[in-house]
Amino acid sequence: MQDFEFHRAQTISEAVHLIAEDEGALLLAGGQTLLPTMKQGLATPSALVALRDLPELTAITARGDGRLEIGAMACHADVAASTIVRQRLPGLAALAGKIADRHVRNRGTLGGSIANCDPAADYPAALLALNAVIATNEREIAAGDFFIGLFTTALERQEIVTSVHFPTVARFAYGKFSNPASRYAIVGTAVAKTADEVRVAVTGAGADGVFRWTEAEARLSECFGPRAINGIEPDAAMLNSDIHASAEYRASLIRVMTARTIASILAAE
Ligand SMILES: Cc1cc2nc3c(=O)[nH]c(=O)nc-3n(C[C@H](O)[C@H](O)[C@H](O)COP(=O)(O)OP(=O)(O)OC[C@H]3O[C@@H](n4cnc5c(N)ncnc54)[C@H](O)[C@@H]3O)c2cc1C
Repeated sequence: MQDFEFHRAQTISEAVHLIAEDEGALLLAGGQTLLPTMKQGLATPSALVALRDLPELTAITARGDGRLEIGAMACHADVAASTIVRQRLPGLAALAGKIADRHVRNRGTLGGSIANCDPAADYPAALLALNAVIATNEREIAAGDFFIGLFTTALERQEIVTSVHFPTVARFAYGKFSNPASRYAIVGTAVAKTADEVRVAVTGAGADGVFRWTEAEARLSECFGPRAINGIEPDAAMLNSDIHASAEYRASLIRVMTARTIASILAAE
């Protein structure tokens, strides 16, 4: 690993300033992706700007307008254990509790996960299905505009994710067919049903990262039940093929996992 400067920002504006004045500087959340990447020589930042001294980034708050606001530096274990999240959006607490292992859950953060935008990460599917809004130091970005592609988001270089605002949707669940070693999603499906629409988002499978399965959404808007998606699958040509699963296998898994996720929502009622 090459030498680098290390800063512990005491305010968000200090973090922004440190990032702005050094083009090679990177933000550090829990280091669960960034540090291994640096150890492998795949990232060579001139400086790290740690966000861990900013308590305002870890708050989990139930807003008066019904939204749930989770700070970017909230670690997965805190989201999983939060009474507010378990009451308001239990499917999201369950998702956080199934990320990786105990070590990673205690260090990895919501903001780091979505900024990193790994195509097999769990949170992006939940944010997209729930139509969540990502707040940064500069603006608010709808999840549908935030996730651009593999490891690519709408964030500008000097932009820091500060929190995510989730609508508290009663009918929401996430199901994952996970890699048994890392627990990253081979296929993960998030389903949210509101009075107006059904949204289905898929992670782990898309060649271009997380995506909405609009054909399933249309069927489920007509009739919300696992059988509504019998006989349909996403086009395998737009899916990943790797040592874990072929594109065709993933296409089939997406239907199966979506059906199971819908069944789990109905079973909870
Ligand atoms: C063994 C292992 C297994 C894993 N399994 C899973 C899994 O099952 N499911 C899953 O979803 N994830 C999984 N992960 C990923 C993990 O959960 C973390 O979410 C992810 O590694 C990001 O880590 P971090 O929050 O520590 O961010 P860091 O590694 O510190 O940062 C990641 C990137 O995000 C940027 N960044 C961080 N915070 C912000 C911010 N607030 N604003 C803007 N940019 C920011 C950093 O500059 C960096 O580029 C796994 C990771 C490991 C190591």
